[in-house]
Amino acid sequence: MAKSRGLIKNKGHFMPNGSYKNAPLTEEVEQIWFSLTDDCNMRCRYCFVPKDKNYMCTGVIEKALDLLFLSPGDNKKAILFGGEPLLDLKLVCSLTKLARKKADLLKKSFQLGVGTNCLYLTRKATNFLKKEDFQISVTLDGNRKTHDKYRITKEGEPTYDTVTKNLAKLQKEVPASRICCLLGVYHEEVENLVDNFLHVCEKIGVESINIEPIQTNHPWTKTEISRFKFNLLKIFNYILDKIEKNNFVFINSLNRALENKMKNRVNQSVFRKNLVVFPDGKITINPFLYYLDKKYIIGDVLGSIDPAKAETPFNLRKDIVDFNIIRVRDHFCNKMAEYLINKSKTDPKFSRYVGEATSRIFE
Ligand code: SF4
Repeated sequence: MAKSRGLIKNKGHFMPNGSYKNAPLTEEVEQIWFSLTDDCNMRCRYCFVPKDKNYMCTGVIEKALDLLFLSPGDNKKAILFGGEPLLDLKLVCSLTKLARKKADLLKKSFQLGVGTNCLYLTRKATNFLKKEDFQISVTLDGNRKTHDKYRITKEGEPTYDTVTKNLAKLQKEVPASRICCLLGVYHEEVENLVDNFLHVCEKIGVESINIEPIQTNHPWTKTEISRFKFNLLKIFNYILDKIEKNNFVFINSLNRALENKMKNRVNQSVFRKNLVVFPDGKITINPFLYYLDKKYIIGDVLGSIDPAKAETPFNLRKDIVDFNIIRVRDHFCNKMAEYLINKSKTDPKFSRYVGEATSRIFE
C-alpha cells in the first residue's frame, strides 16, 4: 500500500484511511457543493446542465454530509445548487435538518448557502432560508438587456422582471449581508461588464457580487481576456472610491483572496472547497466537468475517491474547458487583496472593509 495526500491506495484506487467505505477523509473538506438536481425551470442559452428530473436522495445526502463532517476541521459549509435547488424545498429542508444534526453531534460550526435563479421564490422558501440563515446567491447577469439575452424560461420568455421582483422581496426579508448576486459574464458581454456590475449594485442595491466568467467550451480570446482585465480594474477603482466614502461593495473572489492572504493559505488542496456531489453520488472538483465527460469523476460518496484524478482536470486544453479566465480573475483579485491589506494597516476605513469582506464569503 502506498500513501498519497493522506489517503490509502488499494487496487488502483485511493480511499479514505480506515475501512473501505465512508470513512473520514484525512484531508480537510471545509465545503461541499451539493448539486441537488439537474432539473430547472429556466433554459439559459449558455447552460450546460441537461435538465433531467433527477433529485438527490437522502442516502447520497447522508454520505456526502459524512464526507464533509467527518473530515478534519471545525468549520463546515454546504452550498446547494443545481439545476434549480428550490424546485424541491422539502429536499432542501431535509438536507438542512440532517446537516444541523450532524454539526451539533460533532460540535462543528456549520453554514449553508444556496444558489438560485430566483424565478420561483415562494414565501415559504424565503421564510425557511431566512430562518436557517442561508447565504443566498441569486443569478442576475446585469441589466435587462444582457440578462434577457441569455436567461430565459422553458418557453423562451425573458426573466429579468420576475427575477428582480423576487429579489426585491427577498431584500426586504433578509439582511443585505446574506444576499449576493451571481453576475455571470458571457464572453460576448465582456464589454458590458462595468455597466452590468453598476446596475446590480446601484440600481438593484446588492452589496455583494460574484463576478463569474461563464465556462463553456469557448476559449476566451486574447481580446476578450484583455477587456475583462480592463473592466475588472475599473470595478476595483470604483470599489476603492466607495471605501473612501465608507460605502462598501464586495466581490466574492476578492473576499476569498483577502481571507486566503490573511490566513496565509497557499497552494490549497482541491479537497478543501472544490468537491461537488451530484444526485447519483458522483464527485468532481468542478460542476462543468461532470457533464463534460464521466472520466473527470474523481469518486463517489457511496464508495471511494481517487485523488490522482483530482489533480488533472485543471490542465485541460482550453477548447475543452477554459479555466484560464478564472485564473485571470483570481490573479487580479490577489493583487487587489495585497493592496487592500497594505492600506488596512494605516487606514481604519480599509481595515473595516477587509474585516467585513472576509465575513462575506459566499462560495
Ligand atoms: S438557471 Fe442555472 S441550471 Fe437553470 S438553465 Fe440557467 S444556468 Fe442552467
